[in-house]
Amino acid sequence: MRRPAIAANWKMHKSAAEAAAFARDFLPRVKDAGEKDVILAPPFTALARLGEELAGSRVALAAQNVHAAEKGAFTGEVAVGMLAELGCRWVILGHSERRTLFGETSAQVSEKAAAVLAAGLRPIVCLGESLEEREANRTLDVIARQVAESLADVPDASATEVVLAYEPIWAIGTGRTATPAIAQEAHAALRERLAERFGAAAAEIRIQYGGSVKPDNVDDLMAQPDIDGALVGGASLEPESFARIVDFEPR
Ligand code: PEP
Repeated sequence: MRRPAIAANWKMHKSAAEAAAFARDFLPRVKDAGEKDVILAPPFTALARLGEELAGSRVALAAQNVHAAEKGAFTGEVAVGMLAELGCRWVILGHSERRTLFGETSAQVSEKAAAVLAAGLRPIVCLGESLEEREANRTLDVIARQVAESLADVPDASATEVVLAYEPIWAIGTGRTATPAIAQEAHAALRERLAERFGAAAAEIRIQYGGSVKPDNVDDLMAQPDIDGALVGGASLEPESFARIVDFEPR
């Protein structure tokens, strides 16, 4: 049985004070965080303040990116140890906005994933096809290549620490959610690729769906056998909406 993992990706939204206000409103609303991994990923500048608010709760702190090196001359970058010091337990890697807007490659994502795991944190590794790739019937090939390349440096022994996030680019921030059947097809294909790479551990690796997840579609998506949680952008910015998503009931 895979424990669901529900993560909020706030992107470049919320100051430290706004993140703290969110936590004070959100925490009392979450009913059963004990049965799920519930994760908030604010901008770097809100990590410390939000970490204080989340201390003692079952909600975990995540960063939205990291550099693979321990330290060095990398202006503007942040190392895993710095995130760990602030209480981060997760790091989102390879979000499509990082890949498309900042040129991040799967090879870089893979290096970062290995660094995150080596530091005892957990990576949420994002991948997914563009609209053009889907319309050209290339989805399964594209995500197979992305998963192989993005996890190339992940040691076999750490495979179950990784969470994968399938996020079709055409569904992110567009209001155009993948149907449960479309998402399940991609998730099942990803699990087959994971089995080729990691063997039996693939059955334990969680695969989140991301792309316009909302309170009114989460229950249907989570009913799919290979969907093990969600990575949520827009609908995670309001405490009421994200709490409803966290408390999903598969149907
Ligand atoms: C995301 O940014 O990871 C995401 C899925 O965004 P949204 O939920 O807004 O589509």
